[in-house]
Amino acid sequence: MNITINKLSASKNPYPRILDRKVNVISKIKAVLGILTEVFIDDNPYFKAPMKIYLGFCRKHKIWYLDYLHGFPPNQYLICPLCYNRVKLLMYNRLRREYADWCYS
Ligand SMILES: [Zn+2]
Repeated sequence: MNITINKLSASKNPYPRILDRKVNVISKIKAVLGILTEVFIDDNPYFKAPMKIYLGFCRKHKIWYLDYLHGFPPNQYLICPLCYNRVKLLMYNRLRREYADWCYS
């Protein structure tokens, strides 16, 4: 039991992240064109089952990144790690501001 808890707590979601491995040029071009490109299968214990990892390209940040598919068909998507951090920061600031307004109104 303890081993299971330790194993789960030791692993955290490593995605999305900036591309940190070699991928072929065809995959990179497909990612730039917005074509879903599976690059490997991750068996990180964070996931309940082996997870397909895709290569994405962010037009805003001009980077390739790795992520798994979010959402449900037919509306599945990848998210750039830098865009993701930006959205998290915007949401945090907005919530903090709204909470402050609510507290002092
Ligand atoms: Zn981005």
